[in-house]
Amino acid sequence: MNSSKLVIGNWKMNGSTAQVRAFADLAAQDWPGCEAALCVPHPLLPAAQAAFGATPLRWGAQDCSAEEEGAFTGEVSVRMIREFGARYVIVGHSERRAHHAETDGQIAVKAQRALAAGLTPIVCVGENAQERDGDQTGMVLRRQLLQIVRALGRDLGSIVVAYEPVWAIGSGDAASPGIIEHTHGFIADMLTFHAGTPASAVRILYGGSVNPRNAGAILSRRNVAGVLVGGASLVPADLREICKAAARCSAPTAMESDVTLQ
Ligand code: PEP
Repeated sequence: MNSSKLVIGNWKMNGSTAQVRAFADLAAQDWPGCEAALCVPHPLLPAAQAAFGATPLRWGAQDCSAEEEGAFTGEVSVRMIREFGARYVIVGHSERRAHHAETDGQIAVKAQRALAAGLTPIVCVGENAQERDGDQTGMVLRRQLLQIVRALGRDLGSIVVAYEPVWAIGSGDAASPGIIEHTHGFIADMLTFHAGTPASAVRILYGGSVNPRNAGAILSRRNVAGVLVGGASLVPADLREICKAAARCSAPTAMESDVTLQ
């Protein structure tokens, strides 16, 4: 597995061309040596391509269509995203699942299309508070990932998985490093068991209220290949601090095995 930690920013429906330029200016002068990318709203992809190309930052989108092309008003295809030099596309974010009723099946097709277009899909999974309280985390993660495993088969090693407990997103309260390490171990084992893909082949990121103060404790845990950052990725200095923590923690990671969740 790539031992360099990966930091992905999710700007959600925020940002502007001026903000893209501000990040690029900072990244061009002084940026820690970790892999980092900003997933911007679709209209900002051309600005990201123009501004980030000469910096260590890469860029990506936050969603793509499950269709290839045609009469799908308002949709954006993977080919269009790729045309602007994007490397990543987030699929299955909990906000898309909740507000757009996206299904596990649709998300699996999006991941397939992304890979076929040369993009790396970042597949988001995670339980909500009710599911956590009902000890259903393991069941929910298994259900969300099984469709991906079936759709991608041997290509599974080319995706990134982001564990984002819905209760932690935007709450200011990240999951504890212990819960994160344990749950990532469970996901890795589940992928190994169902896909035969070695646990170490898939990068598993944590997302949910990551900030400069908690990033180091999270990134130093076993099974954590990086972080997916929402709010803090809109502040250049905060993102740089998180990337510094990622650079410090970039060392070979051991994967846990035999982890069970309810
Ligand atoms: C997200 O929505 O992907 C996210 C991680 O948000 P935040 O960091 O703001 O919790």
